[in-house]
Amino acid sequence: MRTEPHIATQDAPRGPMPALDDAVLEDVRRIWGFDALRPLQSEAIAAGIAGRDSLVVMPTGGGKSLCYQVPPLAAARAGDARIDVCVSPLIALMKDQVDGLRSNGYPAAALHSGMAPDERDAVRRAVRAGEVRLLFVSPERLLANGFDAWLGTVGVRAIAIDEAHCISQWGHDFRPEYRQLARLRASFPRASLHACTATATPRVQQDIVSQLELRDPLLLVGSFDRPNLVYRVEPRADGRKQLLEVLGRHRGDAVIVYCLSRKETESLSEFLRKEGFHAGCYHAGLAAEERHRVQEAFAEERLDVVVATVAFGMGIDRSNVRAVVHMTMPKSVEHYQQETGRAGRDGLESECVLFHSYADVVKWQSIIDSSADEARARLGENGADDAAFEALDDSVAQGRAHLEAMQRMAGTAVCRHRWIVEHFGQEWHARPAGCGACDVCLGEVRMMPDSTTVARKLLSAVVRTGQRFGAAYVADVVRGAETEEVARRGHASLPTYGILRGEDRNALINCVFQLVEHGLLARTEGDHPVLVLTAEGHRALRGELEVALRAPPRGRGRRHATAREVHGAHEVDTSLFERLRALRRELAAQRGVPPYVIFSDATLLEMAARRPSTLAELAGIKGVGEKKLADLGETFLAAITTG
Ligand code: ADP
Ligand code: ZN
Repeated sequence: MRTEPHIATQDAPRGPMPALDDAVLEDVRRIWGFDALRPLQSEAIAAGIAGRDSLVVMPTGGGKSLCYQVPPLAAARAGDARIDVCVSPLIALMKDQVDGLRSNGYPAAALHSGMAPDERDAVRRAVRAGEVRLLFVSPERLLANGFDAWLGTVGVRAIAIDEAHCISQWGHDFRPEYRQLARLRASFPRASLHACTATATPRVQQDIVSQLELRDPLLLVGSFDRPNLVYRVEPRADGRKQLLEVLGRHRGDAVIVYCLSRKETESLSEFLRKEGFHAGCYHAGLAAEERHRVQEAFAEERLDVVVATVAFGMGIDRSNVRAVVHMTMPKSVEHYQQETGRAGRDGLESECVLFHSYADVVKWQSIIDSSADEARARLGENGADDAAFEALDDSVAQGRAHLEAMQRMAGTAVCRHRWIVEHFGQEWHARPAGCGACDVCLGEVRMMPDSTTVARKLLSAVVRTGQRFGAAYVADVVRGAETEEVARRGHASLPTYGILRGEDRNALINCVFQLVEHGLLARTEGDHPVLVLTAEGHRALRGELEVALRAPPRGRGRRHATAREVHGAHEVDTSLFERLRALRRELAAQRGVPPYVIFSDATLLEMAARRPSTLAELAGIKGVGEKKLADLGETFLAAITTG
């Protein structure tokens, strides 16, 4: 499997950027310990140094931060007295970024509302004294009264806008406070603007360019593919059992499990704790301190599994998340891409598993409908004009289209990497043996034996029971369940009663939902929807159609030696790797920073594979820069050589 993201560059009208000089590469080596830049990074950094506006779209883990962190150093060398600013929506992330940069000896600071006044004063003084080259601020602060004027007196060279898709209402994560950033151009006419984001369709890219008034921007769009992620999509039968199987492959690893409801996150995390996992739950309904506590425990590696609603994610920055599990289907491919994107940011192999059922689609549809009804009622009360109603209709239609795309992705038999890349409008470079990193290409997708017959039996049961019931009841009839309801309705005497005896109830319910998905059954409208046969359903019942039903996969072990076991040509000493992780945890706790600020998993893995025995050898490892070598070199060497 490839481990470096494949990066494609789009030529800009002004032609390619000039090559970077050696001093820049030396910065990258000295501060970050990387011996090369990725192709798109080089271009973005060159644009940043030249003061040319840019829009960088790179998948999570692609290395966006370097794009705006490197240019300020070059500007300082060239004697430019102005500073660079990075606008970031999340205060928690800002603090971690600044901690990480400072531990590398990089002159960064942040200004945000979570700081005490004297802390803020100290930062302002440091900025004035020229000790800060990159200043992180929140969007509301940047354009707050007086602050932009103050910055103007300091002089702003360039402004990077992180998570730039938040400015677009066509995106999936529109934030009203980002709208104000449209004023940046007017407020800082001499600064160049650099937008970056992980998820932006061409339409959102266009919107970012026009909202921010970017001038002849260099457009750099990386591939949406994340080659180190292994995608798996399974019909959900017994969700908890399926989850345990995934977690069994990731003992001691960081895992995020996404659920739809708050209640579900609570009961599921409780269940996992009983099963012996260090699990916690996270959702927007928890008190702020509790959320903070969970986030911190996860970042500090005291918690392995977080069961969360989508509220969890934007603020976490743990690069070694080894699995992201969706217990239910997200409402769009964009959400799926962003949530799964939290896995494997360190470039090491990680797994993304989606459990889904047609029931999820039904749920999302009803959420879309009821929120549209509410919005419509509000518009009516406020006497809104037709345009407002039309805009609402548009956004409802868009919500449905997003959902349908997600549904297609879950149901596809095409390579998942390919499907995602093509969904985002990019070309997929096919490989004869498949991607090697999705359930389709790995040959794990299992079909129900005799799918067509099973489908006919289920359809027949729907007809025999009068097309008046839901999936669970139909499943009970065909499996010959002795329930009170079946007895009362006299359905135990039907010829279809018990024709699928011995099959798992949840698996059967899932099959019924698949029949809805295939358009063979339809759900009626109203408060008590029931299943009825469609014209296609009747054809299938008559045996005129082949039907393919997916079955949940059987238990599988690890599919092959992972990045953890083999690193390059070297075998990883896994017990040494675990010891280095423990050392990292200890050092991080002493210093009050998250562990990844010490070293990333990728760096520890390389240490455990190459076993450096001198400082010079240690310096050759990716992620070991000059300051860290001086700070931590001896400690880590001692741990490696005594191990
Ligand atoms: P993004 O913000 O795009 O999600 P990051 O900037 O956090 O990505 O980088 C992702 C990971 O890749 C980090 O662990 C970072 O240290 C690593 N990385 C970035 N650039 C390079 C490089 N040129 N060489 C090696 N590793 C890199
Ligand atoms: Zn594939």
